[in-house]
Amino acid sequence: MPAQIIDGKAIAADVRNQVRLNIEKRVEKGLRAPGLAVILVGLNPASQVYVRKKREACDEAGLLSKSYDLDESTDQQTLLDLIDKLNNDASIDGILVQLPLPEHIDDTLVLEAIHPDKDVDGFHPYNIGRLAQRMPTLRPCTPHGVIHMLESIGETFKGRHAVVVGASNIVGRPMNLELLLSGATVTVTHRFTNDLATHVANADILIVAVGKPGIVKGEWVKPGATVIDVGINRLPSGKLTGDVDFEAAAKRAAWISPVPGGVGPMTVAMLLRNTLQAAEKHDSQ
Ligand code: NAD
Repeated sequence: MPAQIIDGKAIAADVRNQVRLNIEKRVEKGLRAPGLAVILVGLNPASQVYVRKKREACDEAGLLSKSYDLDESTDQQTLLDLIDKLNNDASIDGILVQLPLPEHIDDTLVLEAIHPDKDVDGFHPYNIGRLAQRMPTLRPCTPHGVIHMLESIGETFKGRHAVVVGASNIVGRPMNLELLLSGATVTVTHRFTNDLATHVANADILIVAVGKPGIVKGEWVKPGATVIDVGINRLPSGKLTGDVDFEAAAKRAAWISPVPGGVGPMTVAMLLRNTLQAAEKHDSQ
């Protein structure tokens, strides 16, 4: 039987709707709408698309998004000064710096300059540390979105073997922490892993985040597995595709997420949820 498709668009729309309803309630109570500062440096076309989607989603959910589109040549100190100003701006609950940054800017320095309470991407070492110690605060949007997708199809995690392909700071590593928190047994693979096929074949839950189309072959997938494809790749034809050989994998998996329409919309939805969470924490302080 072919796999059932995990409809990230629909699951994300539910999350965004919940956020919108919560914001309406806040505003009715006389509280301000959460504010998100979105900083984009330069003209990377993919980043421009992501930032536009994030800003549109904010408008739709009733969050106030403030745009800071900076020139490619902006120097590091100017960016750090802006972050400092936003850290001290009481109308701003979340600060998002779209990656990648131009090469002359140290992204570690920039991400660590964001106050952990406003780190709605969940990349700050404080927030990653909290997740590692099973006390999550603001959780990284893409991995948290994947967990939410899995929960929405009834995944139970405990006693299940999850395999993560890719070990980056923004997806693979925090994905490992999220899966551990959920109670799964986790294997993380990366560019130095030998025999990827054997690891993939052992996965009850397979999460792929590499950025190479077709790196995971359909015939490697364990029959009945759940497959989440985080990869987003643009083919020369202009078509978007993931990292998994979708057609072949869908013949073996029980559940599979498509690209587009899978993890991408979840990332944006979790960003809105984090910004609301940051605003609620701000109110309670
Ligand atoms: P990255 O380049 O920072 O990391 C890629 C990872 O893949 C590395 O850890 C590397 O070791 C690993 N890798 C490379 N070759 C491998 C191999 N042969 N076997 C196993 N692992 C291998 O990329 P990233 O930022 O983590 O993004 C990965 C993909 O996910 C990209 O396509 C990106 O566009 C996409 N992405 C999607 C979303 C979303 O919202 N859907 C969010 C973030 C990233």
